[in-house]
Amino acid sequence: MKSYFLTHFHSDHYCGLRAGFDIGTIYCTPITAALVIEMLYVAPKFVVAIPLNETVTIEGVEVTPLEADHCPGAAIWHFEPPGMETAILHTGKPHSHHSATCLISIYR
Ligand SMILES: [Zn+2]
Repeated sequence: MKSYFLTHFHSDHYCGLRAGFDIGTIYCTPITAALVIEMLYVAPKFVVAIPLNETVTIEGVEVTPLEADHCPGAAIWHFEPPGMETAILHTGKPHSHHSATCLISIYR
């Protein structure tokens, strides 16, 4: 089973996601989780809601959704893989017209 991180509920990000999804776990914020379950009919057992600023450990990686200031429920995902010098930011936005300009940023 794979872990998927959905930054926000805009169709260019959840395209292909539909009822019958069963190939992993989708992690997202509570608002996005509710939309995925109620609008796309994804089974709740495949959706895990993590509140903003709450750190959880997933497959050994510390993961924290941060406010993205993009739409309700939107998150930037912060990953801290064990033993790595770098952390990873997944903004979900590679397009230049959005405030966050790259899909993944590695820093420190
Ligand atoms: Zn968007």
